[in-house]
Amino acid sequence: MLLKFCGAAGEVTGSCHLVRFSDVTVLLDCGIFQGGEERHIRNREPFPFDPQTVKAVLLSHAHLDHCGRLPLLVKAGFKGKIFATQATCDLAKIVLLDAAKLQEEDAAWKIKRLKKKGEDWSWVSPLFTTSDAERVFEHFEPVPYGEWVDLSPTVRFRLRDAGHLLGSGMVELRWQSNGKERTLLFTGDLGQSGMPILRDPEKVEQAELLLMESTYGNREHETTFNECVEQLRQIITETVSKGGRVLIPSFAVGRTQELLYTLNDLVESGQLPIVPVFVDSPMAREVLKVYQRHRELYDEEASRKLRSGDEPFTFPGLTIVATVEESKTLNELREPCIIIAGSGMCTGGRIKHHLYHGIGNPNNAIVFVGFQAKGTLGRQLVEGISPVRIFGEMHEVKARVFLLDGFSAHADRRYLLQWASSFAALPTQTFLVHGEQEAANSLAEALRGMGWNATVPRLGQEFAME
Ligand SMILES: [Zn+2]
Repeated sequence: MLLKFCGAAGEVTGSCHLVRFSDVTVLLDCGIFQGGEERHIRNREPFPFDPQTVKAVLLSHAHLDHCGRLPLLVKAGFKGKIFATQATCDLAKIVLLDAAKLQEEDAAWKIKRLKKKGEDWSWVSPLFTTSDAERVFEHFEPVPYGEWVDLSPTVRFRLRDAGHLLGSGMVELRWQSNGKERTLLFTGDLGQSGMPILRDPEKVEQAELLLMESTYGNREHETTFNECVEQLRQIITETVSKGGRVLIPSFAVGRTQELLYTLNDLVESGQLPIVPVFVDSPMAREVLKVYQRHRELYDEEASRKLRSGDEPFTFPGLTIVATVEESKTLNELREPCIIIAGSGMCTGGRIKHHLYHGIGNPNNAIVFVGFQAKGTLGRQLVEGISPVRIFGEMHEVKARVFLLDGFSAHADRRYLLQWASSFAALPTQTFLVHGEQEAANSLAEALRGMGWNATVPRLGQEFAME
């Protein structure tokens, strides 16, 4: 067996690992590199393997940094199946179509600008198009959690709940070698314990080889999920009493649905007054339908709510905004309200319009519920920078700004170590992937302190095992 790291090695994005057995070759994830021009360019480089020799992709979940290079893989000749849970297949379709649309728009804008300047524009093309994305869908092969699938006479795999996003899975690969069965476990992204809707990540007891994520390998969340809910409740109550509005920049896939679930609880238990809540994101609306379709994946608490007759994403005051016109009318509202819109880091999307109109009002609140990367408007706001530039104009930040990091979909350092401690026998070899160098190194060191053989692989590094 030969393992090769083709992404998310010493960084968070581009998750992609090749596993070559004697009779079959598979890929774990095929994600896009994100963040900065240098990474964008890497997405256009050829794969460091022949896509035609890959028989299957085992896809952990639908976030773009895990599935975003699938259209390129298919374009490069991949003919096999893409195995994932049904929910992951459904979400990945939305995510890939959205990414294709953004890339097409971006390319069209670049071409227009170059034409205007009389410069050569023939080199500009989207990374992949809508039809490239659609060609991926024919390869999807849904598999439920726990069901073994044979990839060859000697290799099989199953998916186990990773608790990170609806349908997210860890991949457990088993193969025969010299009469012995060996196991490789790839965690994909691991969720936190106690998140709404999702079950906790499954505990795993055995694997010789472990590929583990390390996004928060050197950090602990400052607040727990429940503390965040209480903070959110206070912020909303105060803002509403002042007649202001609460603006929540949020990722459309996963985070927005968790927020709605949380607001549903707060409103229906009487902890919050009935306030108009607007979800202003066409993508979040599509994702919500997938969440409503896959109730079999809910955790015990959400299932109990359903049984008691509650619709966990629907509550008095909620409006899902559809059109751009409807979105614009929100600016004319005079009453207090809550607006949830993308993008999560304020790099684009409808939230920028709401910030443009609302950031200068001291009665308003801006609440961040996720990680804010360097160089984004979200990061500037979280760091207290004022004024900030929105649509080319400088705006004084008078609204109150909050960061609630306990809503994160990733396990933090403490929980990663706790999850790892459930192994009955230590893995022979552990590779820490999907983490910035510092985070991955720090987690490796902590695991070594517990007697583990843990290292951080380099991009392109290979590892052989019987
Ligand atoms: Zn993820």
